[in-house]
Amino acid sequence: MEGSMPDRPSIHRPGVLEAVRATTGLRREDLRTLRNAIYKRGLTPEEAVALLSPATGSKLAEHVAVDGLQEVLRRDSARDGATKLVLKTRAGLALESVILRILSGRSSVCVSSQVGCAAHCQFCATGHMGMARSLAVEEIVEQVAMAGRILQTEGRRLRNVVFMGMGEPMHNRAAVEEAVARLIDPQWFALSPRHVMVSTIGIIDELRRFVARFPEVNLALSLHAARQEVRERLMPLAKQTPLREMHRALREIQALRARPLMIEYLLLDGINDTDADLEALIDYCRELRVHLNLIPFNTIDQAPWLRPSTQARQATFSATLKAAGFVVTTRFSLGTDIAAACGQLLRPHATS
Ligand code: SAH
Repeated sequence: MEGSMPDRPSIHRPGVLEAVRATTGLRREDLRTLRNAIYKRGLTPEEAVALLSPATGSKLAEHVAVDGLQEVLRRDSARDGATKLVLKTRAGLALESVILRILSGRSSVCVSSQVGCAAHCQFCATGHMGMARSLAVEEIVEQVAMAGRILQTEGRRLRNVVFMGMGEPMHNRAAVEEAVARLIDPQWFALSPRHVMVSTIGIIDELRRFVARFPEVNLALSLHAARQEVRERLMPLAKQTPLREMHRALREIQALRARPLMIEYLLLDGINDTDADLEALIDYCRELRVHLNLIPFNTIDQAPWLRPSTQARQATFSATLKAAGFVVTTRFSLGTDIAAACGQLLRPHATS
């Protein structure tokens, strides 16, 4: 249980600045100044408020909270360009974001949509921690703002936002949608929808609604098995959405979208990497417009029985899928040395 909510709403919450305009005397230009400063120039909310007239600034501080998530830990990878941020909500719940500096000018942030996750996927550390709560829009927006600020101080720019941190975005669709709307809003972050990606295990009713609103946002489906019994073993929620039913939904969804769907497939030794699995995957994807992303498994303490597929098996999957005509890439996880890689996000430090 969290403590009482703060009395003043967060400055990052959509609609808040508009709502306090009359009481604080904020002018339309002030709104623009604040948003440009926070979301485009990487200033902290405090620094942004200091740009206003002192009278307006202090009035605003009475009505709006500028302190939201607290950085409790930052770990920079010694090996690659990843930075893990452990953040704490006002009530002390810990969540993680990961900054990925792939090439200069192409930096990304991987954000969390929930603290914990209700999907309980066997291969994912977050799945093993269970569910605490969904994040509010302002907590998602603030993760992006914090990453943007760090990158800005390095002379880099935040280009991509991926919803591949903790949580299942389609279990928190309303907040994720409002956050995505701000990411692509010219007055807020002004990112291209093509630089935003949402990854989901495939909660199809929610997904249909999401795609109807944001057909241009990139979509990734964590498939991980094209045989129903294998998928159910790895991902308990697969029972609720049988592969056949999901296939129908994906075909409807792709009619709304111009870009291919990314299919994520984690390769697990002896579990989903047999010839039968490969055949099933090819069959499953045949009539879909997809880009296949093979993911080498990052081991997690909570599931010592899961091991990554051998290099030879990974190569066979990749080559066979390519020969079958698919676009195939293999994911390279950053941040393995700081427990920031895919599937490794959870709460490793006592922070509250
Ligand atoms: N719940 C959503 C969003 C989280 S995305 C989803 O599952 O799609 C997290 C990504 O990391 C997904 O592609 C997921 O399949 C992958 N992943 C999870 N555990 C992993 C692990 N141990 N090693 C490598 N990738 C993993």
